[in-house]
Amino acid sequence: MKTATQLIHSIPVDELTGAISVPIYQTSTFVQESPGINKGFEFSRANNPTRKVLENIICNLEEGYAGFAFASGMAAIDAVLKLLKSGDEILTVDDTYGGIFQMFHHMIERFGIKVNFTDTSNIDNISAAITPRTRFIWLESPTNPTLKISDIKSVSKIARQHDILLVVDNTLCTPLLQQPIPMGADIVIHSASKYLAGHTDVIAGLVVVNTKPLADQLRFNQNISGSILSPFEAWLTIRGIETLYLRLEKQCSNAMAIATWLATHPAVDKVFYPGLDTHKNHHIARKQQKLYGALVSFSLKNDNIKSAIRIVNATRLFKLAESFGGVKSMLDHPATMTHRNIPEDFRKKAGLQDSCIRLSIGIEDAEDLINDLKQALDKLNQPSSGKQITVLQ
Ligand SMILES: *Cc1c(COP(=O)(O)O)cnc(C)c1O
Repeated sequence: MKTATQLIHSIPVDELTGAISVPIYQTSTFVQESPGINKGFEFSRANNPTRKVLENIICNLEEGYAGFAFASGMAAIDAVLKLLKSGDEILTVDDTYGGIFQMFHHMIERFGIKVNFTDTSNIDNISAAITPRTRFIWLESPTNPTLKISDIKSVSKIARQHDILLVVDNTLCTPLLQQPIPMGADIVIHSASKYLAGHTDVIAGLVVVNTKPLADQLRFNQNISGSILSPFEAWLTIRGIETLYLRLEKQCSNAMAIATWLATHPAVDKVFYPGLDTHKNHHIARKQQKLYGALVSFSLKNDNIKSAIRIVNATRLFKLAESFGGVKSMLDHPATMTHRNIPEDFRKKAGLQDSCIRLSIGIEDAEDLINDLKQALDKLNQPSSGKQITVLQ
């Protein structure tokens, strides 16, 4: 079966009633016939039939051993980090998601877990940064907003040689564009709040692991820490996944058209999109991704915060908002929004410029989206409206 068919038919019909839409089992507990004799469910923190359907869907799509659904992407990450113990180290990419940066820097360090950041798109940096205490190599590929790509297969070989687990945050690709587990990863993480749910109406996180021992540990963490996804949010996420293929195809082709156009605009300095052959990791993306994704970032020749803010304030179709992956196009100014908590020197070292603007491409018509960006970018050449631009720090 082709992916589009497989995706739709991995969503089961309810065995009990024949309901073609997955039922929402809004219950906290389950009646038992006799102590311990039950239909496989005891208490919804441990297991819930609606959540289980979603966990099985993501497990199948990622070709893993078991899936887990959490109340958010960060809760999923938290449960995975609790596989570690004090003294362990993590090696990760220098352009992590803002929330992960905070978690790595300001939370787990207090529990004696050290994190080393390096540019993992250069494989030599990884071997150089591994220490005897490294337990996880933690990749995001692509990263955002600079859309760095790491070679998952090559990194997994290094990880295996050193008996290190490879964790891949696959939020930007979803399993339809990239499957880290067949490439050698041990744990895959998703913020399902982005493309998987896809309609900017859910906060959810997913994890897939590739072995039974990892599954047993993570099931324990999920149940004991308790940050599970509710039956309704699980249902909304399943509902979103039903149209994932259609949405992503359109979003990726729109993204390619927009990235190509942006590269020709005189006010634009750099365009970051793995689908462009000018992108420094294009060759890796081509090898490991089916399509190039639907985030596009760019910087301005006028590399300053005020110019970027003028643009993000001027678009009409692109809505100014944090997050990405929805059907509606959005844009973000990382330096003052999603990545404002990352110290300026660290941010700049990772290649995130002051004027960088991140676009989350939706399913609208590509030409309309380009025209919207054009009228906003062209405003840079006009005298400013006199309206004060406030830069909040
Ligand atoms: C959004 C995001 C997260 C965090 O997920 P939430 O659902 O917002 O908690 C983690 N990783 C990446 C790459 C993300 O984009």
